[in-house]
Amino acid sequence: MRGAQASDVLGPLLDSRARALRDLRISVTDRCNFRCRYCMPREVFGRDFEFLPRSEILTFEEIARVARIFAHLGVQKLRLTGGEPTLRAGLPTLVRMLSEIPIDIALTTNGSRLTELARPLADAGLTRVTVSLDTLDDEVFRWMNDADFPVGAVLDGIDAAARAGLGPVKINAVIRRGINDHTVLDLARYFRGTGHIVRFIEYMDVGATNGWRLDDVVPGAEIIRTIDATFPLEPAPSNYPGEVVRRWRYANGGGEVGVITSVTEPFCGSCTRARLSADGSLYTCLFATNGTDLRHLLRSGASDDEIAATVGARWNARDDRYSELRAASTAELPRIEMSYIGG
Ligand code: SF4
Repeated sequence: MRGAQASDVLGPLLDSRARALRDLRISVTDRCNFRCRYCMPREVFGRDFEFLPRSEILTFEEIARVARIFAHLGVQKLRLTGGEPTLRAGLPTLVRMLSEIPIDIALTTNGSRLTELARPLADAGLTRVTVSLDTLDDEVFRWMNDADFPVGAVLDGIDAAARAGLGPVKINAVIRRGINDHTVLDLARYFRGTGHIVRFIEYMDVGATNGWRLDDVVPGAEIIRTIDATFPLEPAPSNYPGEVVRRWRYANGGGEVGVITSVTEPFCGSCTRARLSADGSLYTCLFATNGTDLRHLLRSGASDDEIAATVGARWNARDDRYSELRAASTAELPRIEMSYIGG
């Protein structure tokens, strides 16, 4: 821990299901240079889409203040997300400001700017990076990101992150049936033995624009069977309580892979994550339909204690468990877009 004393941290803040607030995912921008069809379909997020104006986005000082308040409430991990967080100008400066807080700082990125930013981010205090890479098949990848962005450039970014000391890099791959499920083994084979860890994510009904269908979901169990048939796997224990990934180790060496099974094996029971949108609203679930505006408090002279009290009350009342309740009845809920609250 760095900066403020550990003694400043209050005891665990529990929600109505006794889940502690431990992780804060901060969206630093709602913009992205990709148009991944399961997240920001171009039909919706096209040329005329109105992204948040600069005046409505939290400043670095406001983000750092909120992060300090959450650290005081027991948050131990910050994850910077977006949209695409590396599009936020001066991101290393924000990381440097956050690194004065006794907290672990990670980043989730599409890797498009990592070659350029990995070193400055690491020097600023970033400790871990997760890169979204859904397939190694260049044609499929360009179709999935709908920005004609090549796989090679993302792989170069992963190498740059490793050279900057941000390894082992975690690689997140969202698997859609009939789109990239035939390339699962290629991803596993490519990263096996590199130290980097591929996590295969079940395609989720995030937001309200990606046209999600259950038929398009490839269960984590099926993904594991596919890999196991070529590279025998054995289950590995979680690294910590509340870890979302189910870990599998290569029985014959070579590291591990993981699956994130929000659809077929929900993990809401141990969910310790809060989310802050780029315009300063607090969300207590990825599938939330509404948030709590903290920006108004930040800009109207509220004290840190008043903001902490608002966060505390919201978390205490939290009873989210969307993935456990997912059904036909939840299909039409006006869920917040993932690109707005940072996945
Ligand atoms: S659905 Fe909501 S409560 Fe469940 S694990 Fe995801 S973010 Fe947490």
